[in-house]
Formats: sequence, C-alpha cells, structure tokens
Amino acid sequence: MSPDRWRLLLMAFSGTLFGWMFDHALLGLVAGLGLYIYLLESDTRTMLEWLRSYREDRSPVLHGLQEDVIREIEVLRNHYRLREDKLSQFLQRFQDATTALPDALVMLNPDNRIEWANVRAAEYLGINWPQDHKQRVANLIRYPQLLEYLEQGDSERDGKGLSLPAPDDPQLKLEYRVMPYGDNLKLLIARDITQIEQINQMRRDFIANASHELRTPLTVIAGYLEAMEDDSVLQDAGLVPQVRQMRTQAARMQALIEDLLMLSALETGRPGDKPQIVSVADMLENIQREAISLSGLRAHDIRLNADSDIQLRGDHNQLYSAFSNLVVNAVQYTPPGGTISIDWYADNDGAHMQVTDTGEGIAAEHIPRLTERFYRVDKGRSRESGGTGLGLAIVKHILSHHQAHLHIESEPKKGSVFQCNFPPQSVVLRSQKTQTG
Ligand code: ADP
Repeated sequence: MSPDRWRLLLMAFSGTLFGWMFDHALLGLVAGLGLYIYLLESDTRTMLEWLRSYREDRSPVLHGLQEDVIREIEVLRNHYRLREDKLSQFLQRFQDATTALPDALVMLNPDNRIEWANVRAAEYLGINWPQDHKQRVANLIRYPQLLEYLEQGDSERDGKGLSLPAPDDPQLKLEYRVMPYGDNLKLLIARDITQIEQINQMRRDFIANASHELRTPLTVIAGYLEAMEDDSVLQDAGLVPQVRQMRTQAARMQALIEDLLMLSALETGRPGDKPQIVSVADMLENIQREAISLSGLRAHDIRLNADSDIQLRGDHNQLYSAFSNLVVNAVQYTPPGGTISIDWYADNDGAHMQVTDTGEGIAAEHIPRLTERFYRVDKGRSRESGGTGLGLAIVKHILSHHQAHLHIESEPKKGSVFQCNFPPQSVVLRSQKTQTG
C-alpha cells in the first residue's frame, strides 16, 4: 500500500479512536478526514507555488503523491532543457553558417514579407534582420522585374536568375534567384557577380575590337584579290585557281567577322531600343527570292505560305537576319531538288515563323547544342557550304531580344523544322492597325 493510503487510514483511525474515547466516534472520523484533506490541499498549494516561481535549486518538501508528481516534473524539465540546449546549439551553428555564406539570403512568406535574412542581406540588399521583419520586400527593393520574378517564381525563367545591380550600389552587380520551398514560402538569394560581369564585358569588348580591327585590312585584301583574278600576268602564269581560292577564303573570313560583329552588337545592344511594326510576309517574300537565287542549279522547291495580315513588333534588320539565316541553312543542308517550306501564321500561343526542309536532318544528341557558337554537326560540310558556325547563335540572340524562342525538330535523312515562336503581345494585326489608326 502506498504511504498516502497509510496516512489516510492512520488519520481516519486516530480520529475515530479519539472521538470514541469521548463517545463521538463519527465526529472523530470526520475530524481525521478533514485534517487529511487540509494537509493535501496545503501540499498542492505549495506545489503550485513552486511551479509558478520555478527555481532549479529549490524543490519543496512534500509528501507521498505530490512528491512523486514533483519528481516526474523534474525529469520532464531536464529532458526539455536538454532538447532546448541542442536546438539553440543547432540554431547557433546555422546562424554561423549563414553568416559565412558569400550570398545574401532572405526568407519570404506567401505575401512576400520578410521572415528572416542573413547578415549579407544587409550588405547587398539593405535588408536588416530583425528590424525589417514582416516588411514587404517590394518596399526595400524596387525593381519591377524582380517583383514580377517573385510573383511568377522560378518556373517561368527556366532556372535562370535575374542580373541587376544592388539597390543602393549600382557598381555591385547581383544575380537574384527565387527558390520556392515549404508551404508557399520563398527564398530570395542574391549573389555577387560583379567580377564575372567584368570578365564577360572584357571578352565582349575584345571580340568586338578585334573583329573591327580585322575588318578594314580584310576588305583591302579581298579587293586586291578580286582585281588579281583578271590580271593577265597571273592568268598567263596559271595562278588564277590559287587566287580564286584565296578570294573564297577571304570572303569566308569576312563573313565570320561580320557575324562576330553582329553577335557583339546583339550582346551589348539593349533589346527593344527602336521597336518597329514589321511586315513579316513582305520580308519572307524577299528572303524566298534570295533563297531561290542561292539554290541556283540545285533547284530546290522553295514554297512560301505567309499570312500578310500578321505583323510583328520588333527590329526589322534583326528579324531579317534571323529568318534569312534559317532559310539559307535549309538551302545549304538540303540535297538538290528537295523541298523547303517557309510558313508564317498565328494562333492562340502567338505568331510562328517556320522553316521546314526535306534535308539531311540532325541527330537528336546535337539538337540542344546547335545554338552554341561554332557548334557544327559536320565541320567539313559546314565550311564547304560557307557556314561560319555562328548563324544559329545569332538567331537565338535575336529571338531572345524579341521574347521569342527557337524550337527545333529534326530526324536524320528526313529533314528538319526550325520554328521561331513569338508571344501574342508582339503580334500586330494589319486589320487591327487600320481600324485603330
Ligand atoms: P553554320 O554556319 O555552320 O551553318 P549554324 O549556326 O547556322 O552554322 O548551324 C549550326 C549547325 O547546325 C550547322 O553546322 C549544321 O550542322 C546544323 N544545321 C543548321 N541548320 C540545319 C538544317 N536545316 N538541316 C540540317 N542541319 C542544320
């Protein structure tokens, strides 16, 4: 039997005995039980006071059941204290790690309010933790592109970050990434890319300057070589084939330099500087004419199916260059007599310019790399046809300036489809324009 029960029995028995001695046994029992209840109540009160003003070093002196309860509470308290210590150690280590990180990290709730930020966030973004807790990130970083990125998440950007200067320091170039996590929360990461940007700028400047410097001497060389072909002394000496070959090579170098200059202009030029309304159908008619002349004796069947009602908002020269590159490629990589279709149409997804050929096709493993500079499926074949290996890189750049994408489908020995997909907001219908204007 537990000590408590002994205590209860003892008090009831002593009370009854004492009452019996005075002929009031029942009254004695009630008095004994009353004393027991009083002691129980006073022990419970002491325990409650101890719990309210908890002191580790001072446990109350209690009896029986309450003493057991106090011991159990102590065990539980020790257990939680250990867990608390572990958690605060972990938090300290996490905080040390985020401080050591070279990137700024900001945790955002579904309303884009700041939940937490590391030390670097103050340096890069001017976001101070904990002062800016629950502040809207839009109040501290006022780039519309970044706010749009925060709304649409990473999915729309194909995993590509956003390059923008730091809000308070235009010299500091940052790459912003937004990663969704947990229950509709977001992590905004900003990385210092100033050095990478500087190196890229140096590379771009070097290519542009070198190409520019080579352009004039090459024009002179090509001009003299052209004149030398008609020179009677060289004709008599039988040197015309060599001179012709030199001229072909000089022309290739000229084409290469023009393409390199075009690429650097595309890389440095700001997209959408001078948007024009382009009549794509008229442009494709010219390109078709040029393609027929380029095909010459190879007699390709070059068809055009263009809706002249659909016009495009964009840069005329750039679009001409992109579309012509795709059509020239189709002529170069399609055997004589093959069919090339040029289509221009619109649907709910936007406007599409498509070049379909019945040429040699491209194996699937090459397709993702075709828009890399100097990537060729067959180097010899490309050089022979006068290709620079830069054509599709230029097309990709031009399309990205127009918020458009290049889609390639191809099957070896069957042919290829190169499709430029423009968003609906770039489309201007001729009928619409005449109605409004
Ligand atoms: P190039 O100047 O060599 O044509 P591009 O960048 O225009 O360079 O094209 C890259 C490569 O893609 C080409 O070398 C060729 O192998 C392949 N290619 C491009 N268009 C076609 C096509 N219509 N059919 C088959 N292969 C093609």
